[in-house]
Amino acid sequence: MRLVLSTRNAHKVRELNILLAPHEVLPLPERVVLPPETGDTFAENALGKARAAAEATGMPSIADDSGIEAAALGGVPGVRSARYAGENATDEENLSKLLREVPADGDRRVAYVCALAYVDGGEERVFEGRCEGTLAAEPRGSGGFGYDPAFVPVDRDDGRTMAELSVEEKDAISHRGRAARAFLAWLDRETQAA
Ligand code: IMP
Repeated sequence: MRLVLSTRNAHKVRELNILLAPHEVLPLPERVVLPPETGDTFAENALGKARAAAEATGMPSIADDSGIEAAALGGVPGVRSARYAGENATDEENLSKLLREVPADGDRRVAYVCALAYVDGGEERVFEGRCEGTLAAEPRGSGGFGYDPAFVPVDRDDGRTMAELSVEEKDAISHRGRAARAFLAWLDRETQAA
């Protein structure tokens, strides 16, 4: 199936292209304007982006909305993860702020959350994935993006951060990987039933 991916984030395009193979993930045409991410939940924001792409292209479309929740901060930054240190903040600025805000000797638990929305005409679905971890004291590694250099996933016992894992190792345990696999399982059932 050919799916339009409603994002301007090149890292997500790369990750989802691998995760959703053999389906073909098409980039969002330049002319499509993405709606502002003003929802209170990841699902709401993902649906808004997928709807915009589906309406503009007439094709089945997907979008993800994701972020990191820190237990010590009551789930913050959550849906505001991309703008945590300000509207046009860089990944490095957002990560530095999180490392400043979470107390060094406090609750260091964090979780990545991803909602993956699928919209095709009147059909709308949302699939969610989570990945639990702890916040490292300092950033390590050069892979991935965003908060990866300080995210140590509980699924592994080697203490490496997400930014120190290979793409395959991250995909196997990541929030986006889990949401993508839930979506693929549903899509397979749908296409078999048709
Ligand atoms: P979105 O584009 O609104 O989904 O923003 C997601 C934000 O959450 C990104 O800008 C990152 O800061 C963070 N984020 C989401 N997924 C990941 C990930 O896999 N690794 C690191 N940071 C992530």
